[in-house]
Amino acid sequence: MTLTPLQDLAQSLVNCDRCKLAKLGRSQVVFGVGNPHASIMFVGEAPGFNEDQKGEPFVGAAGKLLNDLLASAGLSRDHIYIANVIKCRPPNNRDPEPDEVETCKPFLMQQIQLIRPKLVCTLGNWATQTLLERKVGITKVKAQAFYMKDFVIFPLLHPAAALHQGNLLPTLKEDFKKLKDFLDRHSTPAEPTSAAPAPAAPVLNIESPQPAQMDLFG
Ligand code: URA
Repeated sequence: MTLTPLQDLAQSLVNCDRCKLAKLGRSQVVFGVGNPHASIMFVGEAPGFNEDQKGEPFVGAAGKLLNDLLASAGLSRDHIYIANVIKCRPPNNRDPEPDEVETCKPFLMQQIQLIRPKLVCTLGNWATQTLLERKVGITKVKAQAFYMKDFVIFPLLHPAAALHQGNLLPTLKEDFKKLKDFLDRHSTPAEPTSAAPAPAAPVLNIESPQPAQMDLFG
């Protein structure tokens, strides 16, 4: 059976031992899941306990909240692709360490190159700072579009943050409304298909990328 380049990349990482996380108790590499042709990609931080067990990103409590938030923006997991900055669970869910991010980031970038999303929604500080390549706080940049060379970055608070700090939930919901507004402004209505179809994925047409808005970082 011939593998797609994305499947090939996933396969090449199954036994990855490039960083210390390989020896620190991970059960498996959590590559990413979803529509390999998605025009919208979500990027989280790192697998947690449930993700490490199941081999899929965002299947625990944060994932359930993410599903609800996606629905509020008219999206479902079938429409999108989800991956994390680092593909292996850090022990006790500690933060990723710089060498781990540096080792794993090229594989996230390869995923992005192969999927070619128009929009990348970064969840939380780690994903946002890794893709914007700027040490900038999520609260300063969230729910705004940053035009990079090949795609737009739309940072959002991490759903786990709202689970730990309930007062962040209304903001997170509000930010997903802003995401929906952005999608509505940049989508062509999908062609109706067969009877009783599932809601189709938005066809995003974001005009030729503009230069990155580095002035916004202050
Ligand atoms: N948090 C993340 O950042 N990623 C997951 O896959 C799950 C929780």
